[in-house]
Amino acid sequence: MRKRSANTCIFTGPAIAAYGFGNDHPFGLDRHDAFIHALEASGLAEHVTSHPTAIATREQLALFHTDDYIARVKQLSDSGTGFLDSGDTPAMPGIYESAAAVAGTSLAATEALMSGECRRAFVPIAGLHHARRDRAGGFCVFNDCGIVIEHLVKLHGLERIAYVDIDAHHGDGVFYAFEDSPRVYFADLHEDGRCLYPGTGAEHETGKGAGAGRKLNIAMAPGADDRDFLAAWLRAEQFIAAAEPQFIILQCGADSLAGDPITHLAYSEKSHAHAASRLAAVARTCGHSRVLALGGGGYNRDNLARAWCAVVRAFIYSD
Ligand SMILES: [Zn+2]
Repeated sequence: MRKRSANTCIFTGPAIAAYGFGNDHPFGLDRHDAFIHALEASGLAEHVTSHPTAIATREQLALFHTDDYIARVKQLSDSGTGFLDSGDTPAMPGIYESAAAVAGTSLAATEALMSGECRRAFVPIAGLHHARRDRAGGFCVFNDCGIVIEHLVKLHGLERIAYVDIDAHHGDGVFYAFEDSPRVYFADLHEDGRCLYPGTGAEHETGKGAGAGRKLNIAMAPGADDRDFLAAWLRAEQFIAAAEPQFIILQCGADSLAGDPITHLAYSEKSHAHAASRLAAVARTCGHSRVLALGGGGYNRDNLARAWCAVVRAFIYSD
């Protein structure tokens, strides 16, 4: 460790570890602890400030989601049967509470950044970017990314928010919710939608109406590696830096690493470290240093541990 920094905060605990869909599901309950064990083994844990989780209120969930959808999740969570979408996202008993914990914890991390308590923050079980305003999708019940964006707009009045997504899957729940928003600068590098769920994120999708030109979708070919990532990343970084964002969200899904069981990209954790490091530099240039990293997907446990630790390490090394 070249230098220490107490400016990087991580938000962890059993309430978000409980977000998952059982041991036979890719999004199992062991992902949180896989990260924690790697963080401790790497020696990084002593260089971050640990914060507890928080629970989102119904009003906070309603910043993004419809009242009908929130009520439906609660009802299905209490009964613990069926699916929240067409078959990817089971209605596990208590999923309402654990999904509200994910959203509440991402909001707590946002507040820690806005207050200046932290300069950079990471939440491992978070970044549930497929959930739409009125429905679940792709293992995502409440879209904490979207809730954070609405919170920053409605409660803090921010005018320029960057959302950057390097998960293998397109962040469709964020993209379509803010497609016409001039306040959200969206950059998403994902596996080509012709090869992978959710099938969206074509490069011609650059925003609509007042949001036209403020969204960047980059479709990566199956098998794309770190060199391909770096080339594409430069476009994303220049796009985000030009917006001079007041707050940066990084959805750093680890399912874009080689060896993920449900995707076909082939990055290493170096791509994640690069993205985190460069966004920290952009945020510093903008005069605030605020970067919120959300764990996102990643279904190979070794991969998620390496990718997320690489993000935390990059944050610690950033000034
Ligand atoms: Zn994913």
